[in-house]
Amino acid sequence: MTHDERLAALEEVASDVRSCTRCRLHETRTRAVPGEGNADTEVVFVGEGPGQNEDRQGRPFVGRAGDLLVKFLATLRWRRDEVFITNIVKCRPPENRDPEPDEIAACAPYLQRQLEILDPALVVTLGRHSLGRFMPGSRISQAHGTVRPVDPATGASNALVFAMYHPAAALRTPDIERTSYDDVAAIPAALLESRARRAPTGGDRPSTPTPGAVSTMPPGAVLLAEPPPDVAPDATLF
Ligand code: URA
Ligand code: SF4
Repeated sequence: MTHDERLAALEEVASDVRSCTRCRLHETRTRAVPGEGNADTEVVFVGEGPGQNEDRQGRPFVGRAGDLLVKFLATLRWRRDEVFITNIVKCRPPENRDPEPDEIAACAPYLQRQLEILDPALVVTLGRHSLGRFMPGSRISQAHGTVRPVDPATGASNALVFAMYHPAAALRTPDIERTSYDDVAAIPAALLESRARRAPTGGDRPSTPTPGAVSTMPPGAVLLAEPPPDVAPDATLF
């Protein structure tokens, strides 16, 4: 797929999500939150579901959890518009309750289509519900910071999945926040591992770097990048 074809296909998914009534969550949403980011990215972050701010704005991770996610990305010198960010369910569960299994199942085809279009090298799961989709049966306390191949049935045909705690859990628990900074630091190595696995079979991605710092950053630079001092873990969040 060309860049323009990816953009158009992602917009088609977003438009289907905005008019979706496949599960009860459509009844209480203000705005659906399809997800957003760079159509040429190699890395997709998958959260749980929209919260109140996301429901109001129609954009993923724009509240306090989103601010922390942006800080995590900044330690890699990545910006949110260089990756793709979306959720397991695209509409807000009332009172931020956990999404129900039938809601997750109803919404799954949208994430599947997004992953088929993006063909990412790395899927980063944020929290239990996202983990459950990409590493079924694993516990987040054990799985966080680890990689494993993604089941192609998810839509990502040749990707590794990297598990993280949800940023909202990191906001509640300083230990989890510290652990999350350690986990984020392992993302570039996971991306390199996935690139190496993908390289022999080629794939449809051009061999020259695509736009966006994730793709154009030389692998060495990714690995050697030190967190800038202004984005180190910051006590003012609490
Ligand atoms: N939490 C999520 O899981 N997703 C969002 O988009 C925002 C907060
Ligand atoms: Fe449709 Fe997903 Fe929203 Fe349910 S959560 S109404 S399946 S877009």
